[in-house]
Amino acid sequence: MICISVDGRAQVGSVLFESFGQVVAFRHRSHFLVAFRRCIDGRTAHNVTRTGNTREYMDQGLHILVAGGGIGGLAVAYALGRDGHDVTVIEQASEFGEIGAGIQLGPNVFRMFSYLDLTEAINEVAFFPSALCMNDVCTGERVVRMPLGDEGARTPNGYPYGVIYRVDLHQVLLSACRALPNIRLRTSARLAHFEQSAGSVQVHLADGRRVDGEALVAADGLWSKVREAIVGDGKPRVSGHVAYRAVLKREDVPSHLWSDEVRLWGGEKTHLVHYPLRRGELFNLVAVFHSSKYDEGWDTFGDASELRERFARACPQVQELLARIEMWKMWVLCDRDPVMNWTDRRVTLLGDAAHPMLQYLAQGAGQAIEDAVVLREALCHASRDVALAFQLYQQTRYLRTARAQLTARFYGDIYHASGVTRELRNRLFQSGTESAGFVGLQWMYDGINPKQLFRRD
Ligand SMILES: Cc1cc2nc3c(=O)[nH]c(=O)nc-3n(C[C@H](O)[C@H](O)[C@H](O)COP(=O)(O)OP(=O)(O)OC[C@H]3O[C@@H](n4cnc5c(N)ncnc54)[C@H](O)[C@@H]3O)c2cc1C
Repeated sequence: MICISVDGRAQVGSVLFESFGQVVAFRHRSHFLVAFRRCIDGRTAHNVTRTGNTREYMDQGLHILVAGGGIGGLAVAYALGRDGHDVTVIEQASEFGEIGAGIQLGPNVFRMFSYLDLTEAINEVAFFPSALCMNDVCTGERVVRMPLGDEGARTPNGYPYGVIYRVDLHQVLLSACRALPNIRLRTSARLAHFEQSAGSVQVHLADGRRVDGEALVAADGLWSKVREAIVGDGKPRVSGHVAYRAVLKREDVPSHLWSDEVRLWGGEKTHLVHYPLRRGELFNLVAVFHSSKYDEGWDTFGDASELRERFARACPQVQELLARIEMWKMWVLCDRDPVMNWTDRRVTLLGDAAHPMLQYLAQGAGQAIEDAVVLREALCHASRDVALAFQLYQQTRYLRTARAQLTARFYGDIYHASGVTRELRNRLFQSGTESAGFVGLQWMYDGINPKQLFRRD
C-alpha cells in the first residue's frame, strides 16, 4: 500500500511508503516515479537516505551512455531512465528521426509496450490489421490467411498484432525520453571510438569531444562502430536482396487495391508486402527482389525500371499497385551470423548492432525493444554491477535473437520459392488450418515475461 501526501518539507511532494514506515521526500518528479515503480515491482528503494526526520530520495543512478538514437537506442534510454539512471543518448544525425516506412509489431512487442507503459501512446497511432495473408505473386491465389480479428483483437497469447509508421513509433519513444529530465539527448554526436577503465567508459566523438559514463550501450545499428571493437566480425553479410519502399496516402489507393490485411505476395526471388499505417490514413508498400545493384545504406533512391523487370510476371493487381509509385526508396538487406558474445565488461550491444536480421520475420525492431527491457531487468537484478548485468542480459538474449536471425533467412527462402518448392509451399500452406501459422511462431509471439527473468526466489 502506498499513500501519497504533500507535506511542507518536500519541494515536489512526499510519499508515505508503508514498506519504509515513514515519509520520503522527493526533489524531482522523476525520482518519485522511480521509487513508486520500484514499490509496485516489490523492489526496495535503495536510493533512500535519512535527512533529519524525513528520508530523502537521492539520485544515485548510474551514468549510462547510449550510442544511437534509433528505435533500440531510445527504447533502452527510456527503460533505464525510468529507473532514475542518468542516460545520455549520442546520435550521429543532426536530428532524431526515422525513415518513412512501416513496421510490423508482433504480440511479443506489444507485451513490451505494456511493460513500458507505452500501450496507450502506441495504440493511438498504430493500425490493427484484420489478418496476416500470403498470396502467390504470379497467380494471385491465396496461399494462407491467419485472421487477427477486429481492430485491437488479440492473438492467442493475449496481445495484439499491429503495424505502425516508423516515424510514429520513434516519436512515441522520443517523447517518452523527453519527458524524463534525467535523459539527455545529444545530436550531431558521432561515436568514433571508445575505451574503458575499471569504473568508467569514455566515448570519443568524431569531432574530438569526449563523453564519459559508467557504462555504454551501443545501439548504433547494422554498421556498428562499437561492434567492430567488441566482436570484430567485419562488414555485415549482404544478402543479395534489396527492398524498395513507398508510402501512399489512403486516398491515392483505389478501393479495389486497398486491404486492411498485412498482405504478402510471394514469388520467385521477389515479394511485395503491403498494409495500412497510422490508423489507416497511409498505405505502406515494400517490394523485395534479388539484385546485385545496391548502395550501402537505408535511404537511397531505387531504380524503378529494374523493379518493373523483376515483377514482370506478377499478377495484374500487383502490377497495378507497383505502377502507382513513381519514386522508390531503397534498402540494401543485410544480416550477420549469430554470435554468443557481444559484451565487453561495461560495454554491450543492443538491437541491430548485436543481432541484425533480415526483415522476413518482421522482428528486428521488436527484438531491439525486447533487448531494452531485458537489459533494464538485468541491471535491476545486478544492482550497480554493470559488468554482471550486461553478462546476464547477453546470456538471456543470444539464443532467442539467434533463432530469429536464422528463422528470418528461412522465411525469405519460403517467400521467394520457385518451381516445385513454390508449388509445394502453396499446397502445404493451403491445406493447413488458419491457426497453424501462429503455432509455428508461438516461440516468437509468446515472447518473454520480463518479471520472471531474474526472479530472486
Ligand atoms: C525492409 C525492412 C523491413 C523491416 N521490417 C521490420 C518489421 O516489420 N518489424 C520489425 O520489428 N523490424 C523490421 N525491420 C528491422 C528494423 O528496421 C531494425 O531491426 C531496427 O530499425 C533496428 O533498430 P536499431 O535501433 O537497433 O538500429 P537503427 O535503426 O539502425 O538505429 C541506429 C542509430 O544509431 C545511429 N548511429 C549509427 N552509428 C553511430 C555512431 N557511430 N555514433 C552515433 N550514432 C550512430 C544511427 O544514425 C541510427 O539513428 C525491417 C528492416 C528492413 C530493412
